[in-house]
Amino acid sequence: MNNDGSQDAYDRIAGIAKRVFATDIALITFIDGDRHWFKSRLGTDLTQTPCTQSFCTHAMTAKQVLVVENAPDDPQFHDNALVVGAPHIRFYAGAPLLTHEGYPIGTICVMDKQPRRFEHEDQYMLQALADLVMTQMRVDSDLTHRDTATNMPNRIQFFTDLAEFGRTHEAQDKWVVLIELMGMHEANDAVRALGLGYIYDQIAHSAERIRFTVDNATVYHVGPAHLAFCLDKDKDALQILNSVVARLRQPFITSSGIPAKLAPGCGARNITGAELFAPEVLRTLLQAAREARDSPRGVALYDPIADGAHRQAFSLVVEMPRALSADELFLVYQPRVNAQSELWEGAEALLRWRHPSLGVLTPGNFLPLITKTPLIRDVTDWVMDAVCRQLGSWQAENLNMRCSFNVSARNLEEDDFVERLASVMAEHAVDPRWLEIEIVEDVSATENETILSRLIAIRDLGVTIAIDDFGSGYSNLAYLLELPATVLKLERSIVAGILTKPSYATATASIIAMGHQLGYRIVGEGVETADIKEKLVQWGCDELQGYLFAKPLEAEAFKQHLLAR
Ligand code: C2E
Ligand code: CA
Ligand code: CA
Repeated sequence: MNNDGSQDAYDRIAGIAKRVFATDIALITFIDGDRHWFKSRLGTDLTQTPCTQSFCTHAMTAKQVLVVENAPDDPQFHDNALVVGAPHIRFYAGAPLLTHEGYPIGTICVMDKQPRRFEHEDQYMLQALADLVMTQMRVDSDLTHRDTATNMPNRIQFFTDLAEFGRTHEAQDKWVVLIELMGMHEANDAVRALGLGYIYDQIAHSAERIRFTVDNATVYHVGPAHLAFCLDKDKDALQILNSVVARLRQPFITSSGIPAKLAPGCGARNITGAELFAPEVLRTLLQAAREARDSPRGVALYDPIADGAHRQAFSLVVEMPRALSADELFLVYQPRVNAQSELWEGAEALLRWRHPSLGVLTPGNFLPLITKTPLIRDVTDWVMDAVCRQLGSWQAENLNMRCSFNVSARNLEEDDFVERLASVMAEHAVDPRWLEIEIVEDVSATENETILSRLIAIRDLGVTIAIDDFGSGYSNLAYLLELPATVLKLERSIVAGILTKPSYATATASIIAMGHQLGYRIVGEGVETADIKEKLVQWGCDELQGYLFAKPLEAEAFKQHLLAR
């Protein structure tokens, strides 16, 4: 747990002991439960800890310096293995390491193969070195077990205490609670605008409120805006947590005079000492707390079923590199039909994963998490390459087909995205006119000059840009005006509602009219019934896509359809 700097400090203290007393060996030892180990070990590669332990235990139980000037003469140690056999210890002097409360936790000791005298001043000096070791210990533990900004016990202390509870109360259970005071985005925005002090203030204030509500519980500062504490198992956890959240939601004035109002999420889980594996506990609690922030009550208990799904999604992220190299990914193609003629004029490429044990997975199973990692770069590279290869081979058979593929907003943050797209098109000799990228509307694109210029560069390559899922999320008008896109794909769930929800019908009809005025080609997605098709055609949709025409097909089946036409 100590960094190299503090290891140096212990070695230096042992080094001073070895030099001052001119002995062969100097050790700093610790007893932790029934473990006895060397914090620093100079002049020996001794590993027979039980033997040194017998010397050190004496010093510790006596709570004072123990001196054995010539071991063979000493009734207690003459038959000790270190004395009888190698390294034939003759001399031992050890001072106990005592905590503030006077509790012994180890020793600093020197040993020699020659008998020696050890005067009173020597004993005094050795005890002073022991005190120095303890001072270093306290510095270390303060540094590693407390958050330096809020001075609250931190995540390491939280783990240490949970582990300690697990060791001593195997069969007992208790509630472990984690509170997320705000989301990462909010925290970052607040820090940028108001400085770190504003956040620390809110953390400290919230901790105070928790202590007040929960009988002076120890509150740990375990993450950027995360607090944790424990409750006894017999407490009515739900009721307590409800009042904690109610209190945390009350507005207050921070010490800098700026008002604050939090919307915290409180995740809790009941665990027995035996199941306590601390990092795992923290992960599950984070998940519950995040869910809680989205719920009206602000409290969520850990749900092992949801966690199972999450864990599976997580393991799929871990498996993705293998999938990429082992050819487990493949594309299916869903036709995009001309709204008037219903002829297949294009296709959207959709990703599939033939997983060795889970079967064929659709993107909803694995992409949301992958998109949060740099792996999305490799995935999109794979998709681009597969699409261009396919288009190349269709072109060779005179099947000219427009094909779109999906690009994540995150891909547009990659510096070399446009170059990679250009080079994969060149490699497979794909005419850019046949290629279209679908991007999901995301407010940041219009605010971010770099992304905007990247999209313009893509358009300048001759590739079409489509705005996917329009009508979901923000439906930002600026998006339509500023992006170099020419295709607008209407969100599936909006399309599905046009027959039953008048407001959806009005909105869809006017988006189509407005889109046309702005020069967009409009695609209706998720068309499942003839009634919906008719409405969209009537309103002037240019293209349609959906199960009514065809489900996504593998490349060969798609080609057979084209040939049969
Ligand atoms: P999307 O881009 O909106 O793709 C359309 C989704 O709707 C596809 O789901 C398609 O199978 C489904 N769909 C098509 N017609 C109908 C219909 O009539 N009714 C219903 N209920 N669904 C229909 P899929 O293949 O599961 O893909 C889901 C999403 O995953 C896609 O939504 C897209 O956002 C993303 N995605 C798919 N492939 C890729 C990819 O290669 N890269 C990236 N970054 N995202 C992808
Ligand atoms: Ca799409
Ligand atoms: Ca879509």
